Amino acid sequence: TFRVNGVPVVRSGAVEGAVLVFHDITELRRLERVRQDLVANVSHELRTPLSSIKGYAETLLEGALEDEAHARDFIQIILRDSERLSKLIDDLLDLSKIESGKMKMSFLPVKLSAVVQRCMAVLDNPARAKSIVVTCVVPPDLPLVMADEARLSQVLLNLMDNAIKYSGEKASVEVSASVSDRFVRVDVKDTGIGIPEEDLPRIFERFYRVDKARSRELGGTGLGLSIVKHIIQAHGGRVWVQSVHGRGSTFSFTLPIASPQ
Ligand code: ADP
Repeated sequence: TFRVNGVPVVRSGAVEGAVLVFHDITELRRLERVRQDLVANVSHELRTPLSSIKGYAETLLEGALEDEAHARDFIQIILRDSERLSKLIDDLLDLSKIESGKMKMSFLPVKLSAVVQRCMAVLDNPARAKSIVVTCVVPPDLPLVMADEARLSQVLLNLMDNAIKYSGEKASVEVSASVSDRFVRVDVKDTGIGIPEEDLPRIFERFYRVDKARSRELGGTGLGLSIVKHIIQAHGGRVWVQSVHGRGSTFSFTLPIASPQ
């Protein structure tokens, strides 16, 4: 018996050989690092609103409760940060369900313009608050798309909400759709703050934000775009962004056309 890399090779009659098993250690290490980064990110993201809640609750107990005007402000902040925490947990659960393939989706023919109209109604208040006009330009004969309607709404709400959030007063947001090959292409275009070129390649990564403080201030979790990407990919579509810093952004995605039968 002799050894190859420590594995015994047995000679017996005419048969000789060795079985070597290579583990791809670099890939395992990479995955382990991704997991560790995620745990560190999640802990940090949870801690930020939690320590604010704790701080304001303590200040209230230490006497601020007597001063009604201040007390109200503090309670508003506690409420806002609690909402942020629950949004973060919802987003994390969604992301983990999608990534592990456990998110149930049923793909049926869907009329895109109807979904866009409903999203516009949901976002009417935040848009009005900034005098932002949201328009929808969808050709009347646009074919139906094959989609899970609830998830498609989630995608559009995320993109349209971002378009409103990352725009100044009186900006405009336009949702348009067109046919391209066997797909419908949807564009969500805003005239907002735009994204610096160096940030564009990482914008769909979870927790990646151009300006963390600003995103938090606006109630963001940094998970919206990665959820959008996963949902669109599960539909067999693509998602991408074009942006000019200071001028505006266009987020685009494709969805398969529902076949007539
Ligand atoms: P968030 O919860 O921070 O909005 P997202 O995953 O939805 O997280 O977006 C990630 C980051 O991408 C945002 O923090 C913001 O910096 C940038 N971003 C997304 N949409 C837009 C947009 N329409 N205009 C400018 N920046 C945007």
